[in-house]
Amino acid sequence: MADKRLWVVVGSAVVLLVVVAHALQFRRDVKVESTRNVSVGGATIQVDFAEGPLDLGTEAVAGRVKDAASAVAVYYGRFPVSRARMLILPVRDRHGLFRGTTWGGVGGFPGFTRISVGQQTTAKELAEDWMMTHELTHMAFPNLPDENHWMEEGLATYVEPIARVEAGQLDAKTIWREMMDGMPKGEPEAGDQGLDRTHTWGRTYWGGALFCLVADVEIRKETKNRKGLQDALRAIAAAGGTIDQDWPIERALEVGDRATGTHVLREMYARWSVEPVNVDLAALWRELGVRRVGDLVEFEGKAPLAGVREGITARR
Ligand SMILES: [Zn+2]
Repeated sequence: MADKRLWVVVGSAVVLLVVVAHALQFRRDVKVESTRNVSVGGATIQVDFAEGPLDLGTEAVAGRVKDAASAVAVYYGRFPVSRARMLILPVRDRHGLFRGTTWGGVGGFPGFTRISVGQQTTAKELAEDWMMTHELTHMAFPNLPDENHWMEEGLATYVEPIARVEAGQLDAKTIWREMMDGMPKGEPEAGDQGLDRTHTWGRTYWGGALFCLVADVEIRKETKNRKGLQDALRAIAAAGGTIDQDWPIERALEVGDRATGTHVLREMYARWSVEPVNVDLAALWRELGVRRVGDLVEFEGKAPLAGVREGITARR
């Protein structure tokens, strides 16, 4: 019995430490030096700047938030949550954007992103940033159980560049080249037990993105290119599946499949979650008409799935 009491004491102490650590983490939010509100796609994003130097100034950074949010709004038809907060943490003597994290339902905001921005970030670095778009994409999907984390990250990895192409911020050839570079990192290695049970970096981000790409192609093949993953994702967000809501993955996939009139998401999930599924990427690129030429890619207009490739990045 004494042992048991000891464990209760130790357990309580651990819980207390975790609570205090969380509280301290959010205490850092308190020192906001200035605020700018950004309106995008029916939503307001409160951009809070913590203390610290930013060579470009707050207006340029708020402008980048607006571009990132606009791309997400274009992809989803509107910005997925009505109110969001983005906390910018300036970091002295650094370049670029880093350590982006997004949560649901913090301090009365359905979506909350915290991101570090280096003091010496240049206008070019800001324009080329992908991280803000990635973080804001997270707001358009429900919070899933831990074992399905790959779906949240894979989705953001896959959608972010496509949203930027649809918004006219990136060239389609650039993102197909990045997919050719990135997707092989998501393929299963020896010992893989499926996406729900293999929590490596490669499988979480790129394995999840590979799931999304294959799902997009399959939905488009089944619907004669009339529907795509974008329809499924819009429907999930429209049904209230945003980051402030906890959903089982089955619910999200069912809403998504209903929107495309297919069973692609549920059938793929049944296999990909519990076993390694190999994708013949060379064949997929060939069918889509994407060909590597040196550092660039060329499109093959006569490829059997050229229309599917175009449909994936078409603005609608
Ligand atoms: Zn992420």
